[in-house]
Amino acid sequence: NPSLVSKVAFVQGGSRGIGAAIVKRLATEGATVAFTYVTSPDKAQALVSEVEAGGGRALAIQADSSDATALRQAISIAAETFGRLDILVNNAGVLALGPVEEFKLEDLDRTLAVNVRSAFVATQEAVRYMKEGGRVITIGSTNAERMPFAGGAVYAMSKSALVGLTKGLSRDLGPRGITVNNVQPGPVDTDMNPASGDFAETLKGLMSLPRYGKVEEIASFVAYLAGPEAGYITGASLSIDGGFSA
Ligand code: NDP
Repeated sequence: NPSLVSKVAFVQGGSRGIGAAIVKRLATEGATVAFTYVTSPDKAQALVSEVEAGGGRALAIQADSSDATALRQAISIAAETFGRLDILVNNAGVLALGPVEEFKLEDLDRTLAVNVRSAFVATQEAVRYMKEGGRVITIGSTNAERMPFAGGAVYAMSKSALVGLTKGLSRDLGPRGITVNNVQPGPVDTDMNPASGDFAETLKGLMSLPRYGKVEEIASFVAYLAGPEAGYITGASLSIDGGFSA
C-alpha cells in the first residue's frame, strides 16, 4: 500500500542520482513532489514527465541551494502551489577532493554552503509549513563515520556537521511532532561516484559487502523514514553503506 498518499514533499537536488530516485520513490508512495535542480533542466523535466506518466504529480524548480533566498523561495512556491508541506529531503551535495596543501578556500566555502548551510536554511523555511508528523531527512555520508583516504577532509567535515545539526534540530522540532534524521549512504553508483570509476575498486575493498549501492536502495530507506511507521526515529544518523563504516 502506498504510504504517503496526500503528502507533499520537497527534495533539494532531485534531478539526478540519489535525489532523482528519492523523487520517484516518494511519488510512487503517493506523495506530490517538488524538487530543485541547477544545471540539468532537461533531466529535471524528464523526471517530471516520468512521474506524471506513472499517475503522480511533480514540480521542478531551478534553485541553487547555496543561495538562501532562492532556496527559501522554492520551498514557499512548493508549499503554496500544493497547499501544504510534510516532508523535506536535503539531498543536494557536492564533492570536492584535494590534498590539504592545495585545497582552495572557495571549494571549502562552496562545500559548506551546499552540503550544510542549505540543510539549515531549508529546514528553517520548511518547518514554517509543517504540522505534526512532519519529516526532515538529510542525506549525509558514511564519510562522517570513516574517511579512509586522503583528500576528503572537507567533504567529511561537511557530512559530520550534519550529524550535529540533525541531533540539535530534533530537539527543536520534537515538541511539534516533527522528526529529523540523517541518512548516511556508502558508495552509490551516480555521476558523483560512478561504479565504473577508477576509485571504485579501492572503495569496494573497504566494505563488508564489496559492491556499490543502488540509488533505489537509498530511496527506499528515505521513503521508510518519511512514512508513518518511522515516527519514533529522530535525531539519528543512520548508515546504509554496505558495511563501509563497520
Ligand atoms: P550527483 O552529483 O549524482 O547529483 C547531485 C544532485 O544534486 C543533482 O540533482 C544536482 O542538480 C543537485 N545539486 C548539486 N548541487 C546543487 C545545488 N547547489 N543546488 C541544488 N541542487 C544541487 O550526486 P549523488 O546523487 O551521488 O549525491 C546526492 C547526495 O548523496 C549528496 O549529498 C552526496 O554528498 C550524498 N552521497 C553520495 C554518495 C555516493 O556515493 N554517490 C555517498 C554518500 C553520500 P543538477 O543536476 O541540476 O546539477
